[in-house]
Amino acid sequence: MSKKVVIIGGGIAGLSAGIYSAMNGFETEIIEMHDVAGGQCTAWDRKGYRFDYCLHWLVGTSKGAFHEIWKETNVINNETEIIDHKIHSRILDNDGNEFIIYSNIDRWEKYLIELAPEDEASIKQMCKDMRKSALLEPFALAPELRSPWDYIRILPQMMPVFNVIRKFGRMTCQEYFDKLNFKSQKIKSVFFSLYGNRDFSALAFIFMLGWFNQKNAGYIKGGSFPLAQRMVEKFEKLGGKLSYKKRVEKIIVENNVVKGVLLTDGTTIQADFVISAADGYSTIFRMLDAKYMSKEIDFAYKNWELFTPIVQVSFGVKKDIPSEFPIIINITKGLTIGKTMLDNGYSVMNYAYDSTMAPEGKTTIVLRFDSPWKLWENMDATAYKAEKLQIKKDATVCLEKIYPGITEYIEVIDVATPKTDVKYTGVKDGAYEGFMPSKDNMMKSLKMQLPGLQNFYMAGQWLFPGGGLPPSAQTGKWTVQLICKKEKKPFVSNK
Ligand SMILES: Cc1cc2nc3c(=O)[nH]c(=O)nc-3n(C[C@H](O)[C@H](O)[C@H](O)COP(=O)(O)OP(=O)(O)OC[C@H]3O[C@@H](n4cnc5c(N)ncnc54)[C@H](O)[C@@H]3O)c2cc1C
Repeated sequence: MSKKVVIIGGGIAGLSAGIYSAMNGFETEIIEMHDVAGGQCTAWDRKGYRFDYCLHWLVGTSKGAFHEIWKETNVINNETEIIDHKIHSRILDNDGNEFIIYSNIDRWEKYLIELAPEDEASIKQMCKDMRKSALLEPFALAPELRSPWDYIRILPQMMPVFNVIRKFGRMTCQEYFDKLNFKSQKIKSVFFSLYGNRDFSALAFIFMLGWFNQKNAGYIKGGSFPLAQRMVEKFEKLGGKLSYKKRVEKIIVENNVVKGVLLTDGTTIQADFVISAADGYSTIFRMLDAKYMSKEIDFAYKNWELFTPIVQVSFGVKKDIPSEFPIIINITKGLTIGKTMLDNGYSVMNYAYDSTMAPEGKTTIVLRFDSPWKLWENMDATAYKAEKLQIKKDATVCLEKIYPGITEYIEVIDVATPKTDVKYTGVKDGAYEGFMPSKDNMMKSLKMQLPGLQNFYMAGQWLFPGGGLPPSAQTGKWTVQLICKKEKKPFVSNK
């Protein structure tokens, strides 16, 4: 009889783990607390409009180890249409001054030099660092399974990237910008507004355009919902079982060996292996009562900053509103939406480039802003209702600034708050991408296994600061590689 693998959570990490587990002949069950799979990678429909919560870009749309995962898990197949935006984002200040970030580094370099000829040397240096970062290749094999040869083999190709990591790995964006010593006020103020006022890793900034430059971080037409559904389809085709509306309360352990899970409805499910692809904090501190901790885990959960949660205001607009900019970021400081003071401005996503997001002749536009968890965590129902109403009003004013006259065409407004995210996915404090990548943790990750606990693995965004779909799916694959190794079975990744 084949052994049973139970996976907690049907987000992208859980679905990936489920697919590889089923592919490798294990009886596999995913336990998902929501009534739909996908986790953060989701979308919802209102009056014919689709409001997407996640996908803007997917690293690995054209090549590399992530690309292999997307093909193996049915995220990318012959029918998927990939859109590579020419412009990464358009930045606006309160006076309407514009700054463009192009996806192509050569194009952006030219634009920046025209904008600030006095900074030519600094701009060229920054773009050079970015080009080098594009050489980074993710590993297909779990770290525990790599041999020294796996590292030696990639050394010649990766040497320039290692140099970038060595030089800037422990710098914040602000320190990096200071080092480049830009003179242009415009460049300084845009870069500082976007990345400078927090402990954001310089590497995260440098690596940002590398993938786009290679057209390896496209948008997949249809967005998050069909992406996750294609994974569900693949999982079920391989014979996997996905159980919805079931929440895991505890992981059952006997003599330091995992034996299964206990659900909140009191039922138990036996398993030979358990993979948790749920929220990291809940898994370690609640489902396992913090009994299996390492120094690294303790340090990370005590010290690493979490992503500030977001509020998403989605608009259904009964008019065609074309846009050549997939993202517009208004960096004006000091504005408020509802009770939130906007330290980082707000961003607006016009989905005109994806015809599946709105009925013909209409447009879906999404506005997002950071909103600290402490504002939401103890808000009672009456205050919450009032806050959502106020957000609708204030956000409409912000949208009007970008698209004058739009208000009369708005027929749907939907507000999703940090509380919404916590309710539907259990993510800690609404930190939708887990740990913020900082200069202290950017090159670090947490292990997939916990000390002293057998037959248990973790997958998902909480293992890698910065989160994202690729590392989530990658760790799902890696956990099954480890289980196969333990079972002395060859790992299969293509079925
Ligand atoms: C606004 C936004 C934009 C983003 N944009 C991008 C982007 O463009 N590109 C990109 O790569 N990434 C993006 N991300 C990040 C990406 O969505 C996440 O990093 C990724 O989806 C995390 O996947 P996960 O499976 O690790 O975790 P999650 O998606 O959080 O999945 C965890 C799953 O576990 C379930 N669960 C939790 N607790 C339990 C329990 N006790 N019992 C049963 N089930 C449980 C949850 O319901 C959920 O389905 C974005 C995220 C957001 C929110």
